[in-house]
Amino acid sequence: METLSVKTHRRDELVDITGQVQAVVKKSNIKTGICIVYCPHTTGAITINENADPSVKSDIIMELDKRIPWNDGYSHGEGNSAAHVKSSLVGASETILIKGGSLVLGTWQGIMFAEFDGPRTRKVHVHVQRAE
Ligand code: ZN
Repeated sequence: METLSVKTHRRDELVDITGQVQAVVKKSNIKTGICIVYCPHTTGAITINENADPSVKSDIIMELDKRIPWNDGYSHGEGNSAAHVKSSLVGASETILIKGGSLVLGTWQGIMFAEFDGPRTRKVHVHVQRAE
């Protein structure tokens, strides 16, 4: 397993980490298998979505924010309940197939770290497993 470091710059942000994940796959020398990308934080998440038009990322952030407002009478004393809820909705991990030593992603797909309580420096675990 390798651990990536991801720097975020806003409270809510989707950071494309596809290149960093692909670098781990390449280094592993595994041609056919699976790659698990895992977020060990309770106010972050991992998702796969379009990385071509940046407005897709900002639309996702905007809609999550509308549905899960930062202030909404939450009980959690730390004051970041919205980030915890978004983290659970988006999910802690993604599994991506590996073929020919590369991640199998659609033309417009990218792997993103989702920040919901930034800015911070985050960890993302990447596990690559052979399946030949
Ligand atoms: Zn909290």
